[in-house]
Amino acid sequence: MSSVISKRTFTVAGNWKLHKTPNEAVAFLREMVSTVGSSPDPQLVIFPQALAVDQACRAVHGTSLSIGVQNINEAVEGAFTGEISARVARVLGCRFALIGHSERRRLFHETDEDCGRKILTAQREGLVPVLCVGETADENRSGQTATVLDRQLAAAFAVGDVDPSLVIAYEPVWAIGTGQVAMPEQAQASHARIRQWLRVRIGDALAERVPVWYGGSVKADNALELAKQPDIDGFLIGGAALSSTSLAQIWRKAHDRGR
Ligand code: PEP
Repeated sequence: MSSVISKRTFTVAGNWKLHKTPNEAVAFLREMVSTVGSSPDPQLVIFPQALAVDQACRAVHGTSLSIGVQNINEAVEGAFTGEISARVARVLGCRFALIGHSERRRLFHETDEDCGRKILTAQREGLVPVLCVGETADENRSGQTATVLDRQLAAAFAVGDVDPSLVIAYEPVWAIGTGQVAMPEQAQASHARIRQWLRVRIGDALAERVPVWYGGSVKADNALELAKQPDIDGFLIGGAALSSTSLAQIWRKAHDRGR
């Protein structure tokens, strides 16, 4: 196993999607650096849009904050107009790459197999892949959550020799951007299912080291109860990560989760 992730560090991650110019990103990150100070708990990661990644990496250099890209191509160079290279992301200073966010799957038709290939590319290039999985509202209503999670994980891992040094983000599609957060026990059940799948696939010891983040309408007022669940190791946050005030509030709730 690579040493990129050596234990389950609680993480608060913001996915900015197609928001914030490079200058806005830098101003925001400077505020967050002063909020977080030198505390490594929870670790703070921001996923800016690709054109802001360079300046974002420079802004957090030498701090405890990290930057990631929202997507990569499975190729690192070649005739792929408009795509994002994991190799260049790493050169710029990124540590993480989101893989298979539900918007990528729905709007850009990414498959589980695409995700598997991107995971391999990210790991080969020294990025920690964050594989996003989660069921739709219909799948949830018809009791298929566990089946969908198992299928998405199995398909992504089937593509090749996936190193356990990755993050899984459980993002129920019905909770993303809807204000409809999963109940803490409901999210915990899905996270436990993911951990169980990992145990069978990579063994108990390694499965214990894979962080599983929750994403879907996390806000300051629901963060604490979610963060207290034993298998929730972090948050992937969309809307509430666009304001430094609300992201700082969530970070503080996560910071206080053990008290
Ligand atoms: C997301 O897009 O990954 C997400 C979790 O968004 P939101 O927090 O707005 O639901």
